[in-house]
Amino acid sequence: MAHPDDVDFGAAGTIAQWTDAGIEVSYCIITDGDAGGFDPNVPRDEIGGIRREEQRAAAKQVGVSDVRFLGYPDGRLAVTFELRRDIARVIREVRPQRVICQSPQRNMLRIPASHPDHLAAGEAALCAIYPDARNPFAYADLADLPPWTVAETWVQGYEKINRYVDVTETWDRKIAALHAHASQHPEPDGLDERMRVWNGANAAAAGMPAGRLAEAFWVFDTA
Ligand SMILES: [Zn+2]
Repeated sequence: MAHPDDVDFGAAGTIAQWTDAGIEVSYCIITDGDAGGFDPNVPRDEIGGIRREEQRAAAKQVGVSDVRFLGYPDGRLAVTFELRRDIARVIREVRPQRVICQSPQRNMLRIPASHPDHLAAGEAALCAIYPDARNPFAYADLADLPPWTVAETWVQGYEKINRYVDVTETWDRKIAALHAHASQHPEPDGLDERMRVWNGANAAAAGMPAGRLAEAFWVFDTA
């Protein structure tokens, strides 16, 4: 993910179900979100550290303790060979069966999903999944890490959806994770309601009964 909080908006309810089932989850956050926030009284050079701590606290709410930061600057992320390599390195270290990443394609229905950093993060992650992480000859400086093929990829924030996950049972933990990003929420009281509208619409689109809440993904085979 490009920024601290992206994974919590898109996938924290799903991830809580996975960790409950005993699945190990690692986060890889590309920037420190140091262009984020709303309070001009917080010194800008402190934002990155604050947001790392917020992401670690949010991760804890959904059972994730392995949180890795790549430390790229927020707001000007580009698909470079260095970024592809750094994500491929994490994939080779963690050796995941499944990766959740952002969409490299702009969502023309919901603009916040398509922050330019998200598009770059999604493209770089998919390049890392195929071919970089599995190609033993990609990146000489990764030669000491065995190649790894990610079998399945889940994309969040894409217009097309082929998987809805009912997150009603883990909703409170998703919201707690979002509230952990306190530096990003000038009006935290309205957060739960805003998220209910969005995730309730997902559930309705999936044909779930009224009152259910769902996260939405594009899932595809990357083996
Ligand atoms: Zn973001």
